[in-house]
Amino acid sequence: MDPDTGKQLELCPWLEKLPDQNKFTCTIYDDRPDDCKSYPVLIEDMIKDGCEMLEKQDLNHPKQAQKILDTLMATC
Ligand code: SF4
Repeated sequence: MDPDTGKQLELCPWLEKLPDQNKFTCTIYDDRPDDCKSYPVLIEDMIKDGCEMLEKQDLNHPKQAQKILDTLMATC
């Protein structure tokens, strides 16, 4: 919720598009909430949720993307 308007936010206020790229980053990554630290577990969930962190190659090769995600989440 936007504290000023009370309306539902469409994007997380900490999500920032990288300049000159079609990629996004979390600007509070090291201090992100616990829910964010444990999300996502499945590429399928990221697709269902319309996650902005997905890249075109992830959509084209979801099994490979899942392997990369599993590795990333195991090191968090
Ligand atoms: S990881 Fe959490 S805090 Fe960071 S951009 Fe995504 S939703 Fe926002």
